[in-house]
Amino acid sequence: MLVAMLSPSTLAAVAAGVAALLVYERVDGDQGLLASRLLGGLAILLLIVAIAGARTRCPGCGVRFRRKLTRTETLGERDITKREKVSQSVYDSSGKLSGSTSHWESVSYTRTESRYHYQCKTCSHVWSVTGVSDRRA
Ligand SMILES: [Zn+2]
Repeated sequence: MLVAMLSPSTLAAVAAGVAALLVYERVDGDQGLLASRLLGGLAILLLIVAIAGARTRCPGCGVRFRRKLTRTETLGERDITKREKVSQSVYDSSGKLSGSTSHWESVSYTRTESRYHYQCKTCSHVWSVTGVSDRRA
């Protein structure tokens, strides 16, 4: 599967870059400035791709965007809490929306620490990276 071969971070970076480019274009209605705006958007996109490229760089041969996730190993799970801002709508006596309030709340998460095993599709070098992902408990 093509999607499985590309790393999630690369996909996200490319999607964000394309979205930024589209928004950038839509905001500006002036035809004269459109070309320079597009170039600006393209520069942002290239920057994002460069960052994603550095993240996917093979430590063996240095080539980018050629790593393949071969295995994800779970190292451990633990419960954590995060402080999060929660907004609530406020209604007046007639039931009409009159505003909102917000407060900070402790939210429970399960933090999973994983080791991601990669293999370079160019030189077959194998390496691993550890990372964490949080999901609401
Ligand atoms: Zn390599």
